[in-house]
Amino acid sequence: MDFEKYDVVIIGGGPVGCITGEHIKNHKVLIVEEHQTIGAPLQCAGLVSKKGVEELGNPKGAVNKIRGAYIHSKNHTVKIGNEEVRAYVFERKVMDKDIAIRASKKVDFLLKAYGRLITDKNNTINEKKNLLNFNRLNFLKRSGNKYGLSINHLRDTYKLYPKVVIGADGARSSIGKSAGIPMNREILSGAQVEVVNVDIDDDFVHVFFDKSYCKDFFMWIIPMGKDRARVGMCDSSNTYNKLLNFINNHPIASEILKNAVPVEFSVGALPIGHLKTTVKNNLMLVGDAAGQVKPLSGGGLYYGAKCAKICGKIVDEFLSNDYNINYLKKYELMWRKSIGNEIDFGLRFRSILKKMDDKKLNMFLEFVIKNNLIEYINEKGDMDNPSTILKDLFKRFLGIN
Ligand SMILES: Cc1cc2nc3c(=O)[nH]c(=O)nc-3n(C[C@H](O)[C@H](O)[C@H](O)COP(=O)(O)OP(=O)(O)OC[C@H]3O[C@@H](n4cnc5c(N)ncnc54)[C@H](O)[C@@H]3O)c2cc1C
Repeated sequence: MDFEKYDVVIIGGGPVGCITGEHIKNHKVLIVEEHQTIGAPLQCAGLVSKKGVEELGNPKGAVNKIRGAYIHSKNHTVKIGNEEVRAYVFERKVMDKDIAIRASKKVDFLLKAYGRLITDKNNTINEKKNLLNFNRLNFLKRSGNKYGLSINHLRDTYKLYPKVVIGADGARSSIGKSAGIPMNREILSGAQVEVVNVDIDDDFVHVFFDKSYCKDFFMWIIPMGKDRARVGMCDSSNTYNKLLNFINNHPIASEILKNAVPVEFSVGALPIGHLKTTVKNNLMLVGDAAGQVKPLSGGGLYYGAKCAKICGKIVDEFLSNDYNINYLKKYELMWRKSIGNEIDFGLRFRSILKKMDDKKLNMFLEFVIKNNLIEYINEKGDMDNPSTILKDLFKRFLGIN
């Protein structure tokens, strides 16, 4: 394989890596993915807002549509939603593969290949002259590129010096860590089972806040249509055992799931909090690797797709115009402008939620019910930008004008 022809190498063939590659329109891009197939293993509940679906480019794989949610606290339930379809449930394996197929019109893939960052600490790229053609060498020397890649593929190891390296390598981003980027964020662990034989209203998801089952996040039951559902939770520790406890003992969940038979189990990590640095020299981080995830719901597909497009566009401009390496920092400014405030709000609100015990969560839902706020939530609620409605609801709850 002629690795030298690639201007950009993206580590991670998830949806965000693929969309980033798709938007580097005029240059040679390689996506390196450690697994032998795109989209597996599953690490997602697959719930995507209507806006999110558009941002992802309307991929295949939707199996159900969602009109709202039952929000449960320990003692109360609020049903939000009406006739309007607000979100879709996806088969992630189908979605990811479809996005990859779309991207493959512009990028190449190397599957079953593991990427590691290598650092050219002393700017010694010129010593590797024999590995690089003259133009590439000149570009790298001029721009002072610091990062290259070592790729393990089958039994071979290759060293690559692309003009830009992109880490789209998910929540634990070894690429970001290797560059010494501080990974100052919370990582929750998720566990989920797909079950069949579930007696559930197909149009509404269930979200459960109950600290006796899950301390730091929430549980969900997401109908997939035709008596299938995904049941899961994220929490800071011991998530698998907590999920089993929830399925077997939670009064509402155990009733919904009483005949359920598991057909797929998955685990995954969820980053809560964005990184302070997402561009360092010729390295950029995007998607979960950069923490571009909604802190209140854990949804990363909408924000990830948005930021992937920004990242792809900036890299394309950088390469097309032979700009200084600092131009890449524009990506960071632009993505923060787009979703930074919403993530920051989510983080602040999450710290309030973490401090609320079950009694206070009950009081909040009771307040919503007593004050007939459901219609207002239906009208103003936006699962991608919850800050407006949550700020207002909480001000009312706390009696602040
Ligand atoms: C339990 C759970 C439920 C979730 N539910 C939802 C939901 O309902 N809706 C939603 O919007 N979001 C959800 N998310 C978040 C969503 O899954 C992520 O935000 C999304 O997958 C991020 O895409 P990505 O491409 O950035 O990363 P990923 O999808 O994680 O892709 C990263 C890819 O990089 C590859 N990789 C990693 N390291 C290397 C390496 N060194 N070399 C080569 N390849 C490498 C991995 O194999 C992987 O394919 C959920 C997450 C969890 C954990």
